[in-house]
This record gives sequence, structure tokens and C-alpha cells, in this order.
Amino acid sequence: MKKPLRLKRFAKFLLRRLNGDRPPVDEPTTGPQCPICGSRRFGDFRNRVGVRCVGCGSFERSRLLWMVLNQIDLTPGNRPFFHVAPEIGIARRLHERLGSSYRAFDFSPEIYERVGLPVARLDLCQDLHELTADSIGGICHVHVLEHVRCDAKAVLRQINRVIAPGGYHVFGVPFWGHRYREDMSPTLTDADRLSRFGHEDHVRAFGARDFMEHFGDAFEGMEPVPLPGLVDPGTAIHANVPQRALAPLNTHHIFVYRKLTR
Ligand SMILES: [Zn+2]
Repeated sequence: MKKPLRLKRFAKFLLRRLNGDRPPVDEPTTGPQCPICGSRRFGDFRNRVGVRCVGCGSFERSRLLWMVLNQIDLTPGNRPFFHVAPEIGIARRLHERLGSSYRAFDFSPEIYERVGLPVARLDLCQDLHELTADSIGGICHVHVLEHVRCDAKAVLRQINRVIAPGGYHVFGVPFWGHRYREDMSPTLTDADRLSRFGHEDHVRAFGARDFMEHFGDAFEGMEPVPLPGLVDPGTAIHANVPQRALAPLNTHHIFVYRKLTR
């Protein structure tokens, strides 16, 4: 069967990332260092200079995510930690660290076949309803919600429902423009989505000015955990993450919420 175009594009991206995962030969000994894989070499991506780790393919947001995950309890009560649309470098390290408590998921798990890590299928629109409330230790997903073809707020609510008290919901979304907009119509072309949402695969764009207005009440029963309390500016800069990523409502930011204990 012919693969859909976006699947092919992602498979190609993943392959490049995997091929780039070999030990670099001319590793600098000073300068910013990727906290995930230890590489000090950073390449360009889509006109953005020196943002992508050559060792593991991580971007600023992935490195920030990793630093956050290092500061929190991922498996309270020995419940499993869910990693959705796993970043490969992080997936490897979490798998080593958490063993069977680590669960990786994707809507299209077949794109991870070459990685050698078990990734199961999870449709955020359909499958979360089947999970028991308070049953998982925590979850992370970064730049996923803009692809999801159902009510994004309902997805956030479902995720928060299944996290156990004391567990963390860690996520990031791209911000593109000031105001939220979405269009899930299947009649939109790749070109339409590119011009309206900034990418061919996105069905929505998050606005920095109205994100909390749209999604804030999905986090009832959760407390926000300020990022600067978890990652200090010096550590961020050393990891080649811009300091502005620690401020809320920008594309590199990572949201951290902890479920309140009742
Ligand atoms: Zn790296």
C-alpha cells in the first residue's frame, strides 16, 4: 500500500535523525552540550542556525523537556510513565532508566520500527477513554496536539483524568500567531494548512494571547509548576536552549502540571 505523504516525510526525517545518531568524529570539547546525548555539535534546521543536536537530533524543546524530566518523579506509586510521539534520544535514556515502567506511544508506531524500541499505537482521540482514572504516573508530549484531529481540549482533559495524584503532565505546543484557530476539514490541502497553521500536517495553531483562555479549564485539579524552578537559565543556555524558553507561551516552552492530591 502506498504510504501517505506525511508518513513518508516523517519516516525520512526519522531516518536522518537515526543516521545522525552515530558518535561524532570531530567533537568540540567546549561550548554548549546536549544534555540528552552529550554531543557538542549543533546543526541548522529550516533556516534556524545551530539549533539541532547532531548527536541525537534534539531541538531546543526536546533538550528542555529532558532537563524537566530529570527534575520530577516520573513514576509515582510505581505507575508507568507515558511518552507520546517519543523523541528518540530521550526514549532511549528513559527506557534504560525506567525499564518496564516506560511506555512509548505514537499514532503511527511503524515509523519507529528501525529504532529498536517498543512503541505501541495510541490514538489520543479514541484510546484515552479506555484508561482508568488516576492510573498512570505521568505523561509527556511535545508538539503533538497541533496534529490531533479531534477536540484538543478534550484530549488534555482525558490525559489529566488518567494521571494519578502527584503525577505530572509535561507538554509543549508550537505557538504561531496571537490567537487560537483550527480547521480539521479533510478538504484542506497541504498548502492550505501550511499557510494557515505554519505546517502541512497541522490542523490548528495555538495563540500566545489566548492559550489559557481556550485551554486553562482543562487543567482543573492540576497545579502549574513554574519552569524556572526546575531549570535555571545557566543550565538552559549550556544545553543550547534559549533563556526565553523558560518564560511561558513561546514555542520552545515546556508546560509542567502536577495533579493535586485529594
Ligand atoms: Zn543530543
